[in-house]
Amino acid sequence: MHKPFIAGNWKMNTTADEAIKLVRSLKDLTKDVKDVRVAVCPPFPYLPLVAEVLKGSPIHLGAQNLFWEDHGAFTGETSSHMLKDVGCQYVIIGHSERRQYFSETDSTVNRKIKAALNADLNPIFCVGETLKERESDRTLYVIRSQLQNGLQDIGKNGIQKITIAYEPVWAIGTGKTATKEQAEDVHYFIREWIEEHYSAASAENLCIQYGGSVKPANAKELLSQPNIDGALVGGASLKADDFAEIIKKSL
Ligand code: PEP
Repeated sequence: MHKPFIAGNWKMNTTADEAIKLVRSLKDLTKDVKDVRVAVCPPFPYLPLVAEVLKGSPIHLGAQNLFWEDHGAFTGETSSHMLKDVGCQYVIIGHSERRQYFSETDSTVNRKIKAALNADLNPIFCVGETLKERESDRTLYVIRSQLQNGLQDIGKNGIQKITIAYEPVWAIGTGKTATKEQAEDVHYFIREWIEEHYSAASAENLCIQYGGSVKPANAKELLSQPNIDGALVGGASLKADDFAEIIKKSL
């Protein structure tokens, strides 16, 4: 099938100097890695700096968010075209921290995915349940509704460019990881849902990342599950050694 896809979400971390050092080390540590797709998603102000360091490297650049309008009076926002302009190929959309702290909903997520696709960016679309939802046996119901609403009116061409990241909210930044069985069950469900709503080929080609406290120590067992095609890594992507090790463990 496809190459594993490992993306690093730096969140609101690093200084400019640290960003440059981190990506230089990562380039160096992964220079012999061939069959893995890798992306880093630094904070907005450092995108051009990181893009410069990444020139000529197979590591891709991604952003952590965008706004759905192309331009205009939207103080503080960043459009998909601006991201494209500074060299991004990917953009994370609907991360649970954005849903939780910035009131993002499935419907704003849907508008953002469409804006990304219009600018020829590849969305990394995040879905995931809270602890309360898992404990009340509503995980699959929540995932289904996030897929249904987040992907509304997105056709087969669009879905080809989308990566879905399953990130149980209770496992993000908490040190708690879903067991490989818990993660695999949801990934399987997502792939089936895509098959039912798009096609068998769309489902087969879909890359589904797992995210939630992925570390060098647990990467191998998660990434060896049949429906786990990659990882979206937060904390561990801020350490070049750890992130490089996760990348190597995906092979
Ligand atoms: C994330 O923010 O997408 C994430 C998975 O974070 P962490 O790896 O730190 O849990």
